[in-house]
Amino acid sequence: MKAISTRHRAPTVAIAEAISAGLAPDGGLYLPERWPHFTLEDFDGASTLAQVGLRLLRPFFDADALEAALPGICEQALSIDPPLTAFGNDRDFLLELFHGPTAAFKDYAAGFLAGCLSALSHGALSFGNRPLTILVATSGDTGAAVAAAFHNRPGFRVVILYPDGRVAPRQAHQLGSFGGNVLALRVDGNFDDCQRLAKALLLDADLRREVPLGSANSISLGRLLPQAAYYAHAALRHWRDAGAELNFAIPTGNLGNALACALARRMGLPIGRIVLASNANAVLPEFFAGADYTPRPGIATLANAMDVGAPSNFERLQFLHPDPDELRQLLRAESVSDAQIRAAILRSLEARGQVICPHTACAAEVLDRLRARGETGDWAVVATAHPAKFPDVVEPLIGHAIPLPASLKAMLARPSHAERISVQEVKERLRTFGG
Ligand SMILES: *Cc1c(COP(=O)(O)O)cnc(C)c1O
Repeated sequence: MKAISTRHRAPTVAIAEAISAGLAPDGGLYLPERWPHFTLEDFDGASTLAQVGLRLLRPFFDADALEAALPGICEQALSIDPPLTAFGNDRDFLLELFHGPTAAFKDYAAGFLAGCLSALSHGALSFGNRPLTILVATSGDTGAAVAAAFHNRPGFRVVILYPDGRVAPRQAHQLGSFGGNVLALRVDGNFDDCQRLAKALLLDADLRREVPLGSANSISLGRLLPQAAYYAHAALRHWRDAGAELNFAIPTGNLGNALACALARRMGLPIGRIVLASNANAVLPEFFAGADYTPRPGIATLANAMDVGAPSNFERLQFLHPDPDELRQLLRAESVSDAQIRAAILRSLEARGQVICPHTACAAEVLDRLRARGETGDWAVVATAHPAKFPDVVEPLIGHAIPLPASLKAMLARPSHAERISVQEVKERLRTFGG
């Protein structure tokens, strides 16, 4: 299949090429030119995430440079079936996407993208003998997931840009703990500055001639597509168990994860309603309530991986649904304040017996609101990170320490180093890193 740019001014390219490029040359985001449609029978015999993911993604890679590698990539990147557990009662569920190496959902997509780029660097789209530098702007979890996915992979380097002082201490430690082919830069600015800088550098033709660059942000098609797999997997499992559609409340920042859920529904999976849970960055809730879309600088909240004032994947939604009123029929969005995040973490423990992270708490709060309004149906709160990543927020509320998953324990035992840098200095540092 081919990929097209949301801005219509870039040539149509193969999916593999779109994944390798990250951003389209016209500054737009790539999307597949068509959406396959599935029936339930198309997934007969597919029960693991890797099996469901392969069936779902295969049409996109038909006659593509990645076609032969796809089964192996799915097997590796989608090896952990996310638990869909009871969340306090028999209508509410928690979709636990945090069992990967960095304990956040982004591990799935980062692993998939790394698998794709590795396969390509040995095949059709080689980058010569020079390593490909993966440039990633992060508000916390993206950088760690991408670094873990590419750490020690031959032919790759990773440069992480994160806003200095704006990621949780444990996340900051994680970002600086890789070393080797991973360079962590703490940038004097906010997340939107980091993201803007990464976009500008990826479009800088002079720089790219010297330093082959690739993207791994949620703007990359190679991250968006695999995320649809766990929604397909959870919805199919629920359909087979309960004979009902599953509805989703999804913590949302840059809108990659929730968009993937909407795409899975579009492809025919038994998914009902989708509600986006934003933190105090309310640009999406305001749009879905009827206002114009007005991107703005992000503000700092307790759910810091969602501190996004200009969600980049909105451009994809607009491309798919140019009529805003039509778009408003498809999704809803609600904003959750820091005080409500704290209250939801406490309520989740007391009423449901579950400790959740501040991001997941936004979705739990939204589900509680829906239930209070009389909402019926089966709902899954998407748990995007393990609560042990955010002890500063969660532990004072629940009054005890959260046991660390083994992956986090190992990462935190390693030393950590990040270089402080200004926005202006990053380009030169890319030239000198491992140069
Ligand atoms: C990145 C992230 C989000 C937001 O996901 P988007 O795809 O950017 O909407 C939510 N929760 C956690 C823990 C994250 O790391």
